[in-house]
Amino acid sequence: MTVSSRNLHLLRLSLRVRPIGTRGFASHSSESISFSVPPEFKTRTPPYAALLTRLDKVREILNRPLTLAEKILYSHVVDPEEAFAGKSGQIRGETYLKLNPDRVAMQDASAQMALLQFMTCGMDSTAVPASIHCDHLIVGHDGAEKDLKASIAVNSEVFDFLRSCGRKYGIQFWGPGSGIIHQIVLENFSVPGLMMLGTDSHTPNAGGLGAIAIGVGGADAVDALTGTPWELKAPRILGVKLTGQLNGWSAPKDVITHLAGVLTVRGGTGYIIEYFGEGVQTLSCTGMATICNMGAEVGATTSTFPYTDSMKRYLMATRREPIANAASAVNNLHGYLRADAGAEYDQVIEINLSSLEPHINGPFTPDLSTPLSQFGEAVQKNSWPSKLSAGLIGSCTNSSYQDMSRVASIVRQAKERGVKPKVPFFITPGSEQIRATIENDGFTDVFLGAGAKVLANACGPCIGQWARDDTTKGEVNAILTSFNRNFRARNDGNPATMNFLTSPEIVTAMIYSGDMAFNPLKDKLIDANGNEFMLEPPQGDELPPSGFQQGDLEYLPPIDPKPIQSAEVVVSSTSDRLALLEPFEPFEGRELKMNVLLKVKGKCTTDHISAAGAWLKYKGHLENISNNTLIGAVNEETGEVNKAYDFDGAGYGIPELMIKWKSEGRPWAVLAEHNYGEGSAREHAALSPRFLGGRMILCKSFARIHETNLKKQGVLPLTFVDEADYDLVNGCASIETLDLLQMLNNCVSGVITLKVTNQDGSEHIIKTKHTMSKDQVEFFKAGSAINYIGSLRRQQHAQEQQI
Ligand code: SF4
Repeated sequence: MTVSSRNLHLLRLSLRVRPIGTRGFASHSSESISFSVPPEFKTRTPPYAALLTRLDKVREILNRPLTLAEKILYSHVVDPEEAFAGKSGQIRGETYLKLNPDRVAMQDASAQMALLQFMTCGMDSTAVPASIHCDHLIVGHDGAEKDLKASIAVNSEVFDFLRSCGRKYGIQFWGPGSGIIHQIVLENFSVPGLMMLGTDSHTPNAGGLGAIAIGVGGADAVDALTGTPWELKAPRILGVKLTGQLNGWSAPKDVITHLAGVLTVRGGTGYIIEYFGEGVQTLSCTGMATICNMGAEVGATTSTFPYTDSMKRYLMATRREPIANAASAVNNLHGYLRADAGAEYDQVIEINLSSLEPHINGPFTPDLSTPLSQFGEAVQKNSWPSKLSAGLIGSCTNSSYQDMSRVASIVRQAKERGVKPKVPFFITPGSEQIRATIENDGFTDVFLGAGAKVLANACGPCIGQWARDDTTKGEVNAILTSFNRNFRARNDGNPATMNFLTSPEIVTAMIYSGDMAFNPLKDKLIDANGNEFMLEPPQGDELPPSGFQQGDLEYLPPIDPKPIQSAEVVVSSTSDRLALLEPFEPFEGRELKMNVLLKVKGKCTTDHISAAGAWLKYKGHLENISNNTLIGAVNEETGEVNKAYDFDGAGYGIPELMIKWKSEGRPWAVLAEHNYGEGSAREHAALSPRFLGGRMILCKSFARIHETNLKKQGVLPLTFVDEADYDLVNGCASIETLDLLQMLNNCVSGVITLKVTNQDGSEHIIKTKHTMSKDQVEFFKAGSAINYIGSLRRQQHAQEQQI
């Protein structure tokens, strides 16, 4: 498909793409000297002057006090006039914002498809600074050294591919062993006022340093990587007012484990959680990161905190003093990093830190929250295992220096009384910097002396990479972890393992009892001489007194790597885990005609559409992972799972029939009921149906993110005007669009008419609705969003060459 120069002009106007060759944060001609930083900090500092200028425009239009989250988000809107003019009333929860994020971070599992898609755009480098982090594919079993070697051997082709993409496009590559994405982002990239996207749901961890950081799928990341504005419905703002000060055994983790109990796993959906109140100033920066990290567990878009002295201390400790000074200046002079006086929240929840007690959440859901004082009773009442089988601390959620030093204070106390843990104890440092610093400060020796196993600086047991050999599959057992997620089988692959989430301090106290009902605030342990004693509340330092150690410098990528155009991207043609993407065919320019491959009954989440588990291995190989398409779906006509029927009545697995019809050149549609595509924002749930020949999903309603993903991949998402029409259409029915062309040519919003002919000859005219925006119409015509952006980028490049 060719894209006219008029289209190119329109795209520039409507999408405001960054011009090629302007990689880095958007700058502003009036960039204030007071916010300037030395060159080596430039790509890590938000363009404060430009953001303030844009915020002024937003203020002129909205003319009301803004919350902190609104300030950061709205000052990243491409065109405030277009977004806000005439909408003085409702913005939150209603207006779609086109945003220019400052940075992108990608973890190894999701980076594969993000980069494969980015490659098809034909750009020489990313439009914004970006980083790749190899953390999810590392096993936890024998300890850091052996596990790392084994994992590198098994996953080398994926790591080689990611490294080569980093070289070619100038993306920072943090190799296996360097640390977990969110910890590295906090240590290096998160900055107050930054807006970033990350291809991982716990990206909001960066909110601990006052950023707006949002977890997205690969196709969304590609928007930012190509400089194409990223669209988000303006979230509502949930204010959490913190008063008082944590004390004793209570820790930052308890703020979020308590809040998860209040909000439940859906309570934060569509919201940014913004913390405020005097209690905020008492928290460490890393403690705030823990709280933001687990905002994902209540479904929040992201979470953030106003600028604090502890953020400044953390920036200085992580060798970013000029950035700390710029942030302080922008806050002191303009109040940019805090809410305006009088700003209103959509909802407010108050938490008194002084009276907050430790909480334990689980099993199987992070919002089943029990205060520690009631946990023993809950164990009995629910017949949860009375004995603990293992304790695990660390992960991206809780492996800060403060966490480790407080844990070490507990382990030291136990050692002094001659007591050893009763169950296996595992520690996952979040980064090489943390590993090296806790080793330098003697904590690692303390942990090893207690028989703990220190695992690699990676996700390991948090993401099912725990090669556990002390239990068998199906054996009911309880573990305590300082992680953030506790769905069945998440850690050790055993669906009967109950993971209870709590602070690292409580995990550590409990391993010395081994009893799930133990409460260190009131229960005693027995020392080596048979005497009773109580553990004292943990003590620790917020930051290392002698500074952070960088550890193995080989892990550190260049701060601002330059793209190497001649570099080859390494993908073996025989690989079953990676395959280069072929662009999808553009729209053929005539009304669509297809057949119904499947009518789905009931709930159909992205897990039903694109199963995870063992399939994750194939995330970089679209053809192979597509063999999982809709294998969890229930056939409405037969009640069978993963069964679809051909015209002659022959039954097939759903992806098998898709492959057959694709080979026969027969496009297909899937019909479904309500909230199709709810759950994780999994882009393969849109990519795979498209790859296997799907042209339309027609349902009673969509989960919005999945609907957007379908549009991005060139699949037509339609909903019934009259839900009862779902019953008029049968499997294998022929569907023809009657006025699709009119809609595409004129960008008419609203209704598309379908002619349905069932196999028994019955015919129906059905009205359906679409929600395609002008941009999304262009995506559809081009075959996918990536095709469209790629075409425009290539034209833009050609034009710039001519000038
Ligand atoms: Fe995700 Fe766990 Fe890794 Fe954090 S440590 S990024 S939660 S898998």
